[in-house]
Amino acid sequence: MSEDFYSIINGNSRFRSSNTDFRELAVSQNPEFIIIACSDSRVAPSIILDAPLGSIFEVRIAGEVMDESSLATVEFAVTVLGIRKIVVMGHTNCGAVTAAYENVSGKTGLPVGNSALIRMINSMSEDLKRIPAKVLNLDYCIRKNTNFQSLRLLEIKSVRSLLESRELTITNAIYDLKTGYIELFPIDPTPPAYPNLE
Ligand SMILES: [Zn+2]
Repeated sequence: MSEDFYSIINGNSRFRSSNTDFRELAVSQNPEFIIIACSDSRVAPSIILDAPLGSIFEVRIAGEVMDESSLATVEFAVTVLGIRKIVVMGHTNCGAVTAAYENVSGKTGLPVGNSALIRMINSMSEDLKRIPAKVLNLDYCIRKNTNFQSLRLLEIKSVRSLLESRELTITNAIYDLKTGYIELFPIDPTPPAYPNLE
């Protein structure tokens, strides 16, 4: 093994000697929350929530952008693990949202090409184009992107059904990198895309 990885392996050694929860959890898991968050290294949900191992089912993607795989992951957590509380958590100064915001605000041209990253940024930009120009700023885009990704969860039939029967809840959250504070805010159903929600 490369010496480059000694530091994280040392961390694993400390983990095994200080935390014994993993032995019990080896049999099964029963997390209470699904948290969908950015892959940014500063927003690790279990750490910023000081949550114990096994309590949070994490789905992490740059900019929380929900794609087929991440929707499938949430569907698994809801239908197989039976989790009924979902948090979609954006964060201040998100690099992915910034790239999309700069596209739609005219600060940069739309990226061209067909890489996975460019397709993702363009997909986020399409959502942000729905924001009126007079309220278009980065913080607002971060909130709106979080909400757009929450709404995307409704493409999962089981999630939509459980939400409508009030057996499942979804909330938006923003994590502030500077203060460490997490603000929760409700989903805006933004008609006409999802007219049946409250
Ligand atoms: Zn981010």
